[in-house]
Amino acid sequence: MAGEPQDDCLFCKIAAGHIPATIIRETDTTVAFQDINPQAPTHILVIPRLHHRDAASLAAAAPAVAADVLREAGEVAVQEKLESYRIVFNTGSGAGQTVWHAHAHVLGGRGLQWPPG
Ligand code: 5GP
Ligand code: ZN
Repeated sequence: MAGEPQDDCLFCKIAAGHIPATIIRETDTTVAFQDINPQAPTHILVIPRLHHRDAASLAAAAPAVAADVLREAGEVAVQEKLESYRIVFNTGSGAGQTVWHAHAHVLGGRGLQWPPG
């Protein structure tokens, strides 16, 4: 059921501490950790503890938690001293989503082109 922890979800397991990750920050509702395959000098993922398949689904079901994710993405940028950075929510396989638990990528520490590829 949406919102409930999923036994087969990698990010639910990281949120529960059942799979190790390099945790950057934690709140009651979110966890921020280093991406295992960084695409920039700083590449941190911010996830809600609630399981929803993507950011829009999270925002529809639990808008306060979606706001927490966004605020934590900003806090990560402050903590990592990023002057410029990008927050990305890949949504759907055609956009590169591979993990079906909502997550924000926080990318920085190098020049970021716009528009992205
Ligand atoms: P997506 O492609 O769904 O937008 O992002 C999923 C991200 O999760 C990818 O950037 C990928 O490198 C990262 N990732 C996949 N498996 C793991 C893992 O086991 N640990 C961590 N820390 N990141 C992971
Ligand atoms: Zn999950």
